[in-house]
Amino acid sequence: MSMRDTDRALVQAATAVAKLRCRSENHTVAAAARTSDGRVFTGVNVYHFTGGPCAELVTIGAAATQGATELETIVAVGDRGRGVIPPCGRCRQVLRDYFPSIRVIVGPMDALRVVEVGDLLPDTYVWADHQVDDPAVPAARGGAEG
Ligand SMILES: [Zn+2]
Repeated sequence: MSMRDTDRALVQAATAVAKLRCRSENHTVAAAARTSDGRVFTGVNVYHFTGGPCAELVTIGAAATQGATELETIVAVGDRGRGVIPPCGRCRQVLRDYFPSIRVIVGPMDALRVVEVGDLLPDTYVWADHQVDDPAVPAARGGAEG
């Protein structure tokens, strides 16, 4: 998929956060995500040897904190002018499970493009498909609210 103006704006948002906030080895990548109604959320990674979250995961959490649970597009940008960084394997899996059709911006800065997360993770394990229906166990997601 080709880049829309809103995609370019999302890259700019992540780039700005990377420049402004990624100034130590604890925070080296920024991400920005947009909802279908145009709200933009950003986050930076929280590096730690125990497995701190990537910028994409922090951004998902930041969006959820504000009540946005339907993200349409996401991009991550590295510090020190590294440009757009594709999501790691763990983030691909989380993005696929949370937002099955989310668009992900990838590629070199002079040839950015948009792909669906499923294209980044073919023949993937789908978490929800492998949950055993046990009435004694409340649904982990999407059900048993209230
Ligand atoms: Zn990641």
